[in-house]
Amino acid sequence: MSNFYETMLNNNLGRSLLKNVGLPTPIELKRYNTSQETYFEGKVLIGSSENAGLLDDVLRNLKDCKATVYFPAAARTAAGIVAAAKKAGVKAIGIECKKGMREKFDALVFDASGFEDGHDLNQLYYFFNPVMRQINSNGRVIVLGRPHLKAKSGEQAAAMRALEGFTRSVAKEIGKKSATAQSIYVEEGADANLDSAFRFVISAKSAYMDGQVLHVGKADVVGYPDWHKPLAGKVALVTGAARGIGESIARTLARDGAKVIGLDIPPAEKDLSRVMAEIGGDILLGDISSAEAPQMISDKLKELGGGDLIVHNAGITRDKTLANMPEHWWDMTININLCAEENINNALLKDGTINEGASIVCVSSMNGIAGQLGQTNYAASKAGVIGYVQYMADELAKKKITINAVAPGFIETQMTDAIPFMTREVGRRLNSLSQGGKPVDVAETIAFFGNPASSGVSGNVVRICGQSLVGA
Ligand code: NAD
Repeated sequence: MSNFYETMLNNNLGRSLLKNVGLPTPIELKRYNTSQETYFEGKVLIGSSENAGLLDDVLRNLKDCKATVYFPAAARTAAGIVAAAKKAGVKAIGIECKKGMREKFDALVFDASGFEDGHDLNQLYYFFNPVMRQINSNGRVIVLGRPHLKAKSGEQAAAMRALEGFTRSVAKEIGKKSATAQSIYVEEGADANLDSAFRFVISAKSAYMDGQVLHVGKADVVGYPDWHKPLAGKVALVTGAARGIGESIARTLARDGAKVIGLDIPPAEKDLSRVMAEIGGDILLGDISSAEAPQMISDKLKELGGGDLIVHNAGITRDKTLANMPEHWWDMTININLCAEENINNALLKDGTINEGASIVCVSSMNGIAGQLGQTNYAASKAGVIGYVQYMADELAKKKITINAVAPGFIETQMTDAIPFMTREVGRRLNSLSQGGKPVDVAETIAFFGNPASSGVSGNVVRICGQSLVGA
């Protein structure tokens, strides 16, 4: 948040002034800090469909944090929730859910995995309608289902896909409280792979992720590591690590226990050295689009026993409308933002310098999804990254490697600070949370993808944009 806006928000006169000129007055997002004892602390209301398949896994996860679990006592499925809670060793408290009730919740979780067809959707209404006003600020709504393309019938596919539209709309309704809503689709048989996605989404680490969909598939189950040091013993490469989002990714991965190799171009050496010295990381200097970069990276990873997390963050913009764009701007943008990543991955795979169980994360962009005036080159490169990730997920699964993309929206960096005041204010407020994100929000998502327990999370494209109103 800009200092000016923050100052205005932090005094009553300022807040009413901003409200009167039509600018939203957002509630500050509660982000992760190392003093938080566990991944979630607060009151959770659980609901479920008939034949819900994920309740055991949800409750098993809630046992590991400081959740107080409630369920609607009058729900048809109450007995199933009680039984699952008992199995997980969680105390579940039945509560009368009705308009005007006093209890407030930090999370509402609904397991819709048993939905058969559109008629079942009214169960969403019965669960959420009485409690929509009971969500605390910075609260979470999580709806779980099964992937619609693997449904048993067209009717079931419709009911599953409906969860996405429902959750995205809920996100828009609760965003003013800085509360978020996401859906998680868990493939049949992948229930034990749910943990990392569930813990990330319910935690403060996902503060700026909103209205998103995560897919969890079948993979070797890796027990959840230490919440504060999930990357202990891992080697991570971060390109473009000297500043901006890349710097934050490097710091976050190091905070989580990884040994970081930061790569950037030679003119950025001073900044890169400073950042790497602060986090005990190693330095690689070079242009990722050069012919020698893939081998240089592969050799460095070999020295450290192979890479466990490869983060393709380095990227450039060279904006002009297509009619005015010089050819070399087009080529440079596509080469750095897209082709370099492919060449590097190919070299690491060929040399075996990317370890089994590793993760590749590519930084895409909201503009790659929505398109942007003056960014045909940039949007093509960033949309290309999405296609690459979605295609490669199956290929890499054979090698037990995951690949995912994060698509940032308006992220507060030195670059966005330089945008003229009014344009910047509009850019940062046009989302459900009415505020810009921070580089750390992108970094947390990358750390989640790189978490060894995220072995079933591959082929995902997650926007970190506070549910921007711009774009698809
Ligand atoms: P930035 O310009 O602040 O940092 C990019 C870093 O990459 C720099 O340190 C730069 O030196 C390095 N780099 C550029 N070309 C390189 C090359 N050929 N070889 C090696 N290093 C190179 O940008 P940022 O805002 O931190 O963005 C990081 C990534 O996030 C980019 O891929 C960008 O497209 C994407 N992104 C940013 C935003 C945003 O709001 N800032 C939004 C969407 C996507």
